Amino acid sequence: MLSLLALTFIGCGEDTATAVEEPPVEIVPKNKVAVPKFDKDSAYSFIEKQVAFGPRVPNTPEHQAAKAWLVDQLKGFGAAVIEQDFQAEAYTGTMLNGTNIIGQYNPSAKKRVLLAAHWDSRHVTDHDEDENRRNEPVMGADDGASGVGVLLEIARQLQVNPIEMGVDIIFFDLEDYGDGGANAKHTTWCLGSQHWSRNFHKPNYKAKYGILLDMVGGKNARFAKEQVSVAFAPHVVNKVWKLAQSMGYGNFFVNDNGRQLTDDHLFVNQIAKIPMIDIINLPLGSETGFMPHWHTTHDDMEGIDKRTLKAVGQVVLASVYREANGEF
Ligand SMILES: [Zn+2]
Repeated sequence: MLSLLALTFIGCGEDTATAVEEPPVEIVPKNKVAVPKFDKDSAYSFIEKQVAFGPRVPNTPEHQAAKAWLVDQLKGFGAAVIEQDFQAEAYTGTMLNGTNIIGQYNPSAKKRVLLAAHWDSRHVTDHDEDENRRNEPVMGADDGASGVGVLLEIARQLQVNPIEMGVDIIFFDLEDYGDGGANAKHTTWCLGSQHWSRNFHKPNYKAKYGILLDMVGGKNARFAKEQVSVAFAPHVVNKVWKLAQSMGYGNFFVNDNGRQLTDDHLFVNQIAKIPMIDIINLPLGSETGFMPHWHTTHDDMEGIDKRTLKAVGQVVLASVYREANGEF
């Protein structure tokens, strides 16, 4: 941005008065902050802790206990936290009590980026190989807790290595209570992000773009370019994937196109009109297109690989700090 401004001034020629009055396109921070080192052990422990509460299924005590812990963590890491309580009717007819948890850094800063993951876990293991176990709740170590764990570590880093840019970390609720049936409506999923997209935590909320993390803990994860992300936020996809490859994480952030998915970013793109990408594991050769542990009784800590957490966490951290430094 600095060099762009310099070019603008040269373009203005002798008319220095005009050049001086020209407002800066973007505020460049006085002090650039180096990209911190993402601590994968710390992120792992945040996932372990969530899983220790048990499945975080809406309308259960485990869900409530995990919520209180997540709010405390974000507050402890210096975020200004808003708990956005809401109710939404599930496809089953059950009225669900949800809470979107919003951790704000530099709440008054105009330039902001949004980072998100879902904190609830699914009510049924409807993809378990054992038909008799398909109504058990999902532990959700990868599907839910992994994204939240990575973002909690980023929150911790934002406290230790403060930046001037605004960052909002949103833990969406009720993502995974959707109808898994063949003719199901896609709007039965992602109830928390749909609610937030229609009811911002602040009037006229704006973010430059968003990054959603979902299932970012699996072994040998393959983050192909998900197609809703490519359709709504191609520039963000390209920047993040290029950065990842330049950092040596090209084995995770591959140059392949993935499917298009209904995930929280779809509604943030469509309803909130904030360009948002989804970093999500889309392995090759699996029946569902997701990890074999997806929506089964096997989505536990066994499936979490610290190397994947490091790759995702370091790339997102670098994206945020480079954006803050005007270098992204
Ligand atoms: Zn899920």
